[in-house]
Amino acid sequence: MRLLLVEDDPMIGKAVRQGLLNAGFTVDWAHDGAAAELALRNGVYDLAILDLGLPVKDGMALLGSVRRGGNHLPVLIATARDAVSARIAGLNAGADDYLVKPFDMDELVARVRALLRRHAGSGSSLLTTGDLVLDPLRKTVTQGGQPVALSAREFALLETLMQRPGAVLSREKLEESMYGWGEEIGSNAIEVHLHYLRKKLGSAVIVNVRGVGYRVAD
Ligand code: CA
Repeated sequence: MRLLLVEDDPMIGKAVRQGLLNAGFTVDWAHDGAAAELALRNGVYDLAILDLGLPVKDGMALLGSVRRGGNHLPVLIATARDAVSARIAGLNAGADDYLVKPFDMDELVARVRALLRRHAGSGSSLLTTGDLVLDPLRKTVTQGGQPVALSAREFALLETLMQRPGAVLSREKLEESMYGWGEEIGSNAIEVHLHYLRKKLGSAVIVNVRGVGYRVAD
């Protein structure tokens, strides 16, 4: 899952980014409202964490233009503006959740996961396909009840596929959801991770739709 963090404070931004990386998310960090607006245009994000007091373009203005543009991605406001009127204004402008600084990193991660679940239309955090069960919280995968050990990238790849059961995802789409800005991607990195995933889970688990991409088997 790829998140956009919009935060101008270097200390807070660094800590939040690291906390989200530790939780297994791919994170891009935009330092002002205009950079965030530009980043959101390419539509690769699953969720945005939005500060309100931002240079160039304020968070509320950014949120307004994102929603007016028809972009429905989940937005969690994380701000020092703690007045009830500010919270109401944020939610009314289209935010999905509102967290006041200083916040606990674990709470932020829990809220991000809850929003992603809700957005995917599922109340459960477990992803299930056939006898395959993936737990995004515990970072575990079982197949037929037996645990399967995966690398962090293999896990992220499988999670991306299982979040969209039945959908065929192109290699570019998989890369976008797994790698952030400035991360080196080998030309066949996705194929290599898929190869190992198939080796561990069985070749029938991930279907290659020739010339289009990949999906998890029904
Ligand atoms: Ca700020």
